[in-house]
Amino acid sequence: MELAELERDNTDELNDPSAMAHRSLRRDPFWKSIPAYEQVDEETFHSHLFQTRNAITSVEKLKDALGDLADSDFYEDLRQGLHHAPMSIRISPYIVSLINWEDPFSDPLRTQFLPLGSQQLPDHPELHLDSLNEQADSPVPGLTHRYPDRALFLTLDTCPVYCRFCTRSYAVGLDTDEVEKVHMSANRKRWDEVFSYVASRPELEDIVISGGDVYNLRAEQIRYIGEQLLAIDHIRRFRFASKGPAVMPGKLLTDPEWSSALVGVVEKGREMHKEVVLHTHFNHPNEITGKTKDAMDYLMERGVTVRNQAVLQRGVNDNIETMKLLVKRLSYVNVQPYYVFFHDLVQGVEDLRTTLESGLEIEKALRGTTSGFNTPTFIVDTFGGGGKRDAHSFELYNQEAGIGVFASPTVRPGQYFYYFDPIDCLADEVQERWKDDDLRRKIMAEALDMVNQNSR
Ligand SMILES: *Cc1c(COP(=O)(O)O)cnc(C)c1O
Ligand code: SF4
Repeated sequence: MELAELERDNTDELNDPSAMAHRSLRRDPFWKSIPAYEQVDEETFHSHLFQTRNAITSVEKLKDALGDLADSDFYEDLRQGLHHAPMSIRISPYIVSLINWEDPFSDPLRTQFLPLGSQQLPDHPELHLDSLNEQADSPVPGLTHRYPDRALFLTLDTCPVYCRFCTRSYAVGLDTDEVEKVHMSANRKRWDEVFSYVASRPELEDIVISGGDVYNLRAEQIRYIGEQLLAIDHIRRFRFASKGPAVMPGKLLTDPEWSSALVGVVEKGREMHKEVVLHTHFNHPNEITGKTKDAMDYLMERGVTVRNQAVLQRGVNDNIETMKLLVKRLSYVNVQPYYVFFHDLVQGVEDLRTTLESGLEIEKALRGTTSGFNTPTFIVDTFGGGGKRDAHSFELYNQEAGIGVFASPTVRPGQYFYYFDPIDCLADEVQERWKDDDLRRKIMAEALDMVNQNSR
């Protein structure tokens, strides 16, 4: 009896049309609701030239594009937000058009790219710029060698868009009121030093080619970097990292020179039995449209594997339904969900961070929704440079105090690293303790004591 009921429930769920929501991708001319793009046809709108030339890089330009779609309160709030932001603004018309301008305050895409003063929170007291300490692990400028067999190569410092929450706000993008950056330009001489270093370290097998963003490299630069790395015997695999497919998918179809440079490196790698893939960065199901599917189909036809690294953000994707839809939709367009990162400690974006608990809850609900190989691992990149850890693998998590401790056996053996929950999520009395320097150090010391006691 009970079993039969259970079965019926399951069948009902199978017939539930919302279970198919991930397959309904926008094919309507959604950009035509933006006054500036009203007359623009589909082919023009999605071309990389249109998207690049019409990038929104200031409040004035946003106003010009939107006309009356947003009111003066919104623009004032945005100006306030930009005062305290580590990143200047840059958004593509594609993203601007996917924002719901009837309610920009709660829109998940607006939240990622346009800071609002009314939503900002004070930074966490333990925040330091470059919280991952990437520069400390850099043997040559623009290469971080932290894990024994793989390294992160920052090829340039610009991107097709600037995300509010960028972990590399110490280097990426234009200087702002808040941050003067370490610049890393696309420069062959610097790259060649990186290649010599990589060639001199036989234990390296895997390179992350990042930035900035490789969408901004020219076709011949993609080819040059790819060929230099393929020529190094001990390099077995590498990934090009780009936000591009999420913010300007049309480029893969309208810039054949760029796409074929990428496909060419992938093919050459395959002939040499080396794996070359594309890693991208979708955070919300609304970023995936029919055009995304066309672009991913183009790569699928040419045998290019695409994986996704998302960032868990409060008010964007920190709920079970959104994350399920994101993962199912990515899988549907053949993008493999690889990682979901807990938010790093970055200046001016405390409102986007989540507690460890909320991410763990989402992971628990997500696992089993779809194939295991399309289920992302939830990762904490520990503050201070302890490296990536599975969020479940903490040595200690004191939810009441809002502090987690992780060990780092591969990166810095014997050392412990922290994760801090956002202070505004804690009880009032605990918030007060975090704000006091001595009491804060005490919370941190007590957490470490507890770990040491447990391990004895
Ligand atoms: C994330 C990262 C890598 C790649 O790690 P994977 O777990 O293989 O994705 C390599 N180097 C650095 C410094 C990184 O931060
Ligand atoms: S695209 Fe990547 S590197 Fe560029 S601003 Fe966004 S998160 Fe930072």
